[in-house]
Amino acid sequence: MRKPFLAGNWKMNHDRKAATDFAGALKKGLGDAPSKADLAVFPPYPYLMPLAETLAGSGVEVGAQEMHEQDAGAFTGAVSASMILDAGCTLVLIGHSERRLYFQETDAGVNHKVKKALAKGLKPVMCIGETLEQREGGETEAVILRQLEGGLEGLSSPETLTVAYEPVWAIGTGKTASPEQAQQVHGRIRAWLSERFGTEADDTRILYGGSVKPGNVKELMAQTDVDGGLVGGASLRADSFLDIIQNGLG
Ligand code: PEP
Repeated sequence: MRKPFLAGNWKMNHDRKAATDFAGALKKGLGDAPSKADLAVFPPYPYLMPLAETLAGSGVEVGAQEMHEQDAGAFTGAVSASMILDAGCTLVLIGHSERRLYFQETDAGVNHKVKKALAKGLKPVMCIGETLEQREGGETEAVILRQLEGGLEGLSSPETLTVAYEPVWAIGTGKTASPEQAQQVHGRIRAWLSERFGTEADDTRILYGGSVKPGNVKELMAQTDVDGGLVGGASLRADSFLDIIQNGLG
């Protein structure tokens, strides 16, 4: 039985006050009862440490939005897996479509990062998804399989990997995949994971991302192979993220 997983990707948003206010409000809103889901937030780098400190013991994990695959060295502007762990984080997003689009992230790069994160004990959330043009061209399945093959090449076990299916046409656009569209792709991802890793992948979670909101999360999470959500815009406010958690698990 896979535990639901709901995570917020803040992208390049918030300042220190907004970030720490969010953490306080989230903690208060969640209360002391153990959550029925694993919860996480992915703030920008400068807020990783204060958030990890504020959220320690709350059941909400903190993750980075990106990492470099090398351990250390002359890579100006880059941050390693060890540094992210050292900041109190447990998770890292890898291969978000905005990284693929604006920072020339490739499947090979994603693959190096996933392997490095796992080797260091950081849990990777690998993002995949097709563009509108690819969907309209009937290429969705081929794109997804190519990203899975490329991103996970050479991996003998999924270990702590999470896969996030985020159709690019649904990110930040207000257009959500219908629950049926999401299930169709999630089912294909689940089948691929099972073929590739056997029963070891039974616990690997597949999140849906793309305009998840308090009003649509329940139907999406009701799908057999949708194990949770990766939420962008609607995770920026604690009340909205709390509503997503409540409605998604209700
Ligand atoms: C995201 O960027 O991962 C995302 C899903 O964004 P939004 O929820 O705003 O579509």
